[in-house]
Amino acid sequence: MCVLGLGLIGGSLMRAAAGAGREVFGYNRSLESVAAAKFDGFDATADLDEALRRAADSNALIVVAVPMPALQQMLDRIRSTAPRCPLTDVTSVKGAVLAEVERAGLLQNFVGGHPMAGTAHSGWSAGDAALFTGAAWVVSVDDHVDARIWSQVAQLALDCHAVVVPARSDEHDAAAATISHLPHLFAETLAVIAGEVPLAFALAAGSFRDGTRVAATAPDLVRAMCEANADQLLPALEHGLELLTRAKETLVATGSVADLVETGHAARMRYDSFSRPEIITTVVGTGDWRAELAAAGRAGGVIRSALPVLGNQG
Ligand code: NAD
Repeated sequence: MCVLGLGLIGGSLMRAAAGAGREVFGYNRSLESVAAAKFDGFDATADLDEALRRAADSNALIVVAVPMPALQQMLDRIRSTAPRCPLTDVTSVKGAVLAEVERAGLLQNFVGGHPMAGTAHSGWSAGDAALFTGAAWVVSVDDHVDARIWSQVAQLALDCHAVVVPARSDEHDAAAATISHLPHLFAETLAVIAGEVPLAFALAAGSFRDGTRVAATAPDLVRAMCEANADQLLPALEHGLELLTRAKETLVATGSVADLVETGHAARMRYDSFSRPEIITTVVGTGDWRAELAAAGRAGGVIRSALPVLGNQG
């Protein structure tokens, strides 16, 4: 496989895939990161054409691991040099990526992906082979996806010790707005507010640390994911503001924030007891397998070991 972009996610992926015994090579634009990857024993180059020619020659699975703003130019280069390779990505938004891939004429071989794991650090040195262990890895089941490529991408996630969550791109984006993009905006808000109160940082402990952890992420990455998912983020943000406004009003009128606190606590308890049944019955490529997997993923289902594929059930 060929990883394009050896930062936190691409670099972790390269380490995890190599650890699983896969042949993996990669491209990074900065010479320092390429040198660091080579020093760590990995097969890396700063020459994108060289990496893509090699991918085309070996029909490698290409994983695009660059931020959203760099995607278009990367897809154009893939179309010129390796248009027939199976293709996936790790981008935190899926609808906008799907539109870019379609524009580049690469939809046929594309299956979107999103490992739901990360840290607030960037670059090759932040990578960790164990980053994806136990994490959910969304593998998209949009209408166009090909069964064999879907299985290749799912296998990559399993090789990285993640569990696969099948989901449609639009449903992924609506969910990601609430569990990732809105939390980023709230974390930035909390950090700003505390930063304006003189004694606050001196007293800050676990609550502040946990609530603002993601505000330490590089601003460009946060902007890229929030802005590329604006359609889904805006209604979530609107709802968050409504809840806070209502809490403010009841605090003023009755001295209580009970409504928000009790509903929030109940929702968090539901999350703690949320079950993750294993998806085992679908044969990829048969019948309405994409809709079946999307429904199972929506219900909390995960794939922990490879599903059979049509024509390859043994
Ligand atoms: P990173 O900054 O650690 O790495 C980004 C990589 O992209 C680097 O190798 C950089 O050299 C390369 N890059 C950036 N602009 C480029 C350009 N114009 N041309 C060529 N290469 C370019 O970031 P990351 O956290 O690894 O994020 C990569 C992708 O993973 C993003 O799409 C992000 O949405 C997604 N993702 C991030 C996290 C997270 O927690 N950080 C989690 C899941 C998915």
